[in-house]
Amino acid sequence: MDFNEEDSYLMLSGIQHFQFCKRQWALIHIEQQWEENVRTVEGQYLHQKADQPFIREKRGEKLIVRAMPVKSNELKITGICDVVEFIQDHNGVEIEGAKGKFTACPIEYKRGKPKVTDADILQLTAQALCLEEMLLCEISKGYMFYNEIKRREEVHLTVDLKNKVREITAEMQDYYNRRHTPKVKTGSFCKNCSLQHICLPELMNKRSVKSYIEGRICE
Ligand code: SF4
Repeated sequence: MDFNEEDSYLMLSGIQHFQFCKRQWALIHIEQQWEENVRTVEGQYLHQKADQPFIREKRGEKLIVRAMPVKSNELKITGICDVVEFIQDHNGVEIEGAKGKFTACPIEYKRGKPKVTDADILQLTAQALCLEEMLLCEISKGYMFYNEIKRREEVHLTVDLKNKVREITAEMQDYYNRRHTPKVKTGSFCKNCSLQHICLPELMNKRSVKSYIEGRICE
């Protein structure tokens, strides 16, 4: 593997941005623009608890690994799993530094509540694909933990979801290789975008983005 090639792997967490708005993803991941807003700060606070590099904890038959770096050479993505639970299973795979065999189960932490879109689930699926490639195993389920409802929800990581992640990451790679930032295409989702005044600077000077977007929606 060429080191420089690996350096150019895309961030796995970008799948969420890409699903939210392709232009927002490109501004962040191609043009390296970033604006912190309340959402990202709160999200980071929640992640701090999970982001203690490589902390391993044994609980009964489970080995819990936090902030586990993962990557996929097939998808050319890299990222961090908030938590991976390794559960003892004689049909599982061996992992470094532990006795026995295990199945792996990724868990992703989110600030809010379950979304109507599948953006969170696709991010979790991408983590599972990385783990499958790294550990040479198959992962069929994971969990989303939502801080607002203080509960984790089981997610079936189906073939369809995995194929969708492959399609999305291929499209992201294509945009990235062409350094292509899609043109503005606003919608109601723009109200929750932290890059409004980078994406829509002229509008910001003339009238509020909110009123512009509401105007567009009513058109
Ligand atoms: S303001 Fe709207 S169109 Fe622009 S990046 Fe944000 S979500 Fe996308």
